[in-house]
Amino acid sequence: MKSASGGLYVVVLSLRRAVALRVGAMGRIVFAPGAYVYVGSAAGGVERRVARHKAVSGKKLRWHIDYLRARASWVGALMFPNDGGECLLAQKAAGAVGGAAWPARFGASDCRCEGHLIAAEATPDKAMTALMAMGGAMLAPGKTDFTSGGLRRQW
Ligand SMILES: [Zn+2]
Repeated sequence: MKSASGGLYVVVLSLRRAVALRVGAMGRIVFAPGAYVYVGSAAGGVERRVARHKAVSGKKLRWHIDYLRARASWVGALMFPNDGGECLLAQKAAGAVGGAAWPARFGASDCRCEGHLIAAEATPDKAMTALMAMGGAMLAPGKTDFTSGGLRRQW
């Protein structure tokens, strides 16, 4: 049995204008404006992981999503039960927000799927609504301290 706090999550980010980012070993990628939906898993606790994603300062750029997060606006995050794994959830999320996995293999270093970031055709708000309709539970930002220096110690 997985711990009750383990599971899957989705983070929705938004870019108002195009940005060129160097994404670790993936190199330089130009991201068009729009909503981006990132799917991840955190066996050790979804809320803590999402808090780390939300924080923009005081952390090392470790995952692909960290590079995008550094330049994108935070829209929201949702938690999903882990039935089928993050790759399947990414596929379902792509269907829900009308998009596709892009850039290829983003966030998918540990698996063989197309990628865990979806470039959504939906607006950020509509992407959130679609993900909630898929059964995602909104993570309440108030439950976790996203800003304290404590985050730096935890991660
Ligand atoms: Zn995958």
